[in-house]
Amino acid sequence: MRAIDSLQSRLKAGEVIIMDGGTGSELHRRGLPVSDKIWSGEALFSQPDAIREIHEDYIKAGAEIVITNTFSTGRHILEVAGLGDRTVEIIKLGVKLAREARDKAATGKPVIIAGSMSGYSPLLDPTVTPSYEAALTDYREQSKALAEGGVDLIVVEMLIRTLDARAAAEAAAETGLPVWIGYSVVEDKGKLYLGLRRKHINESIRYAVEAVSSAGVSAFFIMHSSLEITAPGLRELRQCTDVPIGAYAHTISHYLGPLPRDMAWRDLSPEGYLGYARGWVRDGGQIIGGCCGTTPEHIRALKTGLPDRIEA
Ligand SMILES: [Zn+2]
Repeated sequence: MRAIDSLQSRLKAGEVIIMDGGTGSELHRRGLPVSDKIWSGEALFSQPDAIREIHEDYIKAGAEIVITNTFSTGRHILEVAGLGDRTVEIIKLGVKLAREARDKAATGKPVIIAGSMSGYSPLLDPTVTPSYEAALTDYREQSKALAEGGVDLIVVEMLIRTLDARAAAEAAAETGLPVWIGYSVVEDKGKLYLGLRRKHINESIRYAVEAVSSAGVSAFFIMHSSLEITAPGLRELRQCTDVPIGAYAHTISHYLGPLPRDMAWRDLSPEGYLGYARGWVRDGGQIIGGCCGTTPEHIRALKTGLPDRIEA
């Protein structure tokens, strides 16, 4: 049985699946440079060994799903650094490094490679809004490169606009691979909306789930959101869809300077993170990992401490 089919049947059976943790923040923590223009994407060609090693460390810690470091390698982002012409090559390199890490570290157990695209705007400036057609063209190029590189599924991360979500889901679905969609959410006057540091526009979780309903999304996530918001986000998400849901939160405490590099991390132990994650599983979260600020030790804690399955 293909690894992806086995994952789908485990999800159907209610099993809890462990995903990896932060990659860009992990480069930062290891004292390696992170680009202020294209975040972790530059490391693919400037420090490929470090990226492969981070993937390996997550697999060794128990991650059953590894996300490629292609979060910030869409053409619209790479163009800012004068690398637009190398988009396909750089994305395929990201997939290759994840596959090499799997070959080296998985030792026989199935590990899924999830190809990442995101709603990341150039220089993390959310006022840069593409047209639907421009976004679709961009996501099509990324989806095709990820699929040709050999990912098992496509995960679209840090979405704060349904415009990007619809375009990305449509483009990803065209590859025939399973599509996972991850929203970042914030609270505003007691309600949850898509957004990063504050709500972006007035788009609710329900609105965002319905916006991609025609794409046949296989799983939804609340991700790159604060630890506190993730639980109510998941509960709301559970009301909006019947497909598996999951969570991976960031542990950013505040921003020290210019985005996106200079973030301060909460002093959150692996056990502390596990405490939040147990709550997410109680709220129906089935695919659980970590986002910015989490480390292989946080993932190891999830692997050993989370229940094997969600309650029916
Ligand atoms: Zn993150």
